[in-house]
Amino acid sequence: MSDHTIKCADCEKELVGEHQEHGAPCPSCGSLRKAHYVKVKGKVSVKGKVSAEVQSLKTTYEKNTSLLIIVILITIVSPIIGFIIASWIGLVIGITLSIVSFIISPHAISKVKSIYTKKVM
Ligand SMILES: [Zn+2]
Repeated sequence: MSDHTIKCADCEKELVGEHQEHGAPCPSCGSLRKAHYVKVKGKVSVKGKVSAEVQSLKTTYEKNTSLLIIVILITIVSPIIGFIIASWIGLVIGITLSIVSFIISPHAISKVKSIYTKKVM
């Protein structure tokens, strides 16, 4: 099947061979009018991806074991030091250890937030 067909504009008979020529009359009705049909091959495809992302939030608590041990040790040791060294030095050491404990403790247990992205087709 040709992509280009010529038909008679009046009776729509498909013209082949010499009848396709300009000025040649239609073999069935004698009309000189010709209609050209060009077949357009085309493919229309709709490609679409509908995707959605699902985000999930995961919160975990991570324990920093070594820091946790230090915090516990300081908590236990500092009053003992204050008891043994019953002078201003003991007070200074006790306060220093308390400050260290105060700084370290938030790091002993840290909150870990992780966002997971899941693709859903
Ligand atoms: Zn015709």
